Amino acid sequence: MQLIINAHIITETHTIPNGWLTVGDGKILYFGDGAPPPTPSSVIINAHGKILTAGFLDIHVHGGNGHEIMDATPQAITELSQFYARHGVTGFLATTWTADDEPIYRALAQVAQTTVDGAYLWGAHVEGPYVNPNKAGAQNPHLIRRANMTEFARWQATGVVRLMTIAPEFPENLAMIDHCTAHHIVTSAGHTDATLADMRRAIEHGLSNTTHTFNAMRPLHHREAGTVGAALLFPELRCEVICDGVHVQPDVVKLLYQAKGADGVILITDAVRGAGLPYGTEYSQDGRRVTVRESAYLDDGTLAGSTLTMDVAVQNFVRFTGKSLDEVWRCTSYNAARALKIDDQTGSIAVGKRADLVLLDESLNVTMTMVGGKVVYILPS
Ligand code: FE
Repeated sequence: MQLIINAHIITETHTIPNGWLTVGDGKILYFGDGAPPPTPSSVIINAHGKILTAGFLDIHVHGGNGHEIMDATPQAITELSQFYARHGVTGFLATTWTADDEPIYRALAQVAQTTVDGAYLWGAHVEGPYVNPNKAGAQNPHLIRRANMTEFARWQATGVVRLMTIAPEFPENLAMIDHCTAHHIVTSAGHTDATLADMRRAIEHGLSNTTHTFNAMRPLHHREAGTVGAALLFPELRCEVICDGVHVQPDVVKLLYQAKGADGVILITDAVRGAGLPYGTEYSQDGRRVTVRESAYLDDGTLAGSTLTMDVAVQNFVRFTGKSLDEVWRCTSYNAARALKIDDQTGSIAVGKRADLVLLDESLNVTMTMVGGKVVYILPS
């Protein structure tokens, strides 16, 4: 059994300014205020007043530190899991992007076969290819296509698909949303030109999320509120946002928070291979050059995913919204867990859930990450 003492604990229901928490069998056993009762703990971790909160859950992340999920190798996935853990992530969805049938299948099949030892791999997020070529962003527009049940059946058979980003404005794609809803795969509107009416219909078919809200989607116009208007308006929708200050301007992040509240925003990184690599690094993505600067850019200036990490996303979000982590922590873990319907297992500090925890200093830098009760990262002192 492990005992964490002297922590500012953000639990699912309330904050304990100075408390303790015990972990056993990989799960959260108990927590409380002040000094702990006598416990036969084999390991005691003194938090020295640091913040103990639910580990971050990144449901939209493609790569980092020179690797990408689409590399479809066990090394890429295991090293990504360790890289994310160093940034406070305790769970993630390995995210594919628009490609031919086979490379997507290979990546999903590898996700199904790989055991990781850092952040827990909850499955996969299939981003594209069933999106709108007019809102391709950095997705390859030539490979974007309408939803195809035969193709998708093989991907689905890997058993790891939990979330799909899709453009709901096409009839084939709406049928795919029905299929996903029936099979407990969450659908998210992204790379889309959906109108408010398209979005209202898609929600009736089970759509529940929006993908990197504001980026690569029909903007808000006051006579046609678009995908963005729907994201802001409909409480059924949980909204991903890339909180790097580049993809979405800080005041617009604050606007999203004010519209959706602490239950409606999901922080994601959308990080790609260049995350964690030095400024100026160049690499190839589908034969197109990407350069790492403030973010990752194609040669024509198009953003090619981000170089964000979840710790920085959380620090930015607190700064942009002017709120404390006590108020907004659900955007870092719980809302994603609820969207994926894994909140009975993870996503908050509650008795009986997995001990997926992160310890943060007062500037919200990660000093320890614990996944399923195992310490997978400690800041070197
Ligand atoms: Fe995207």
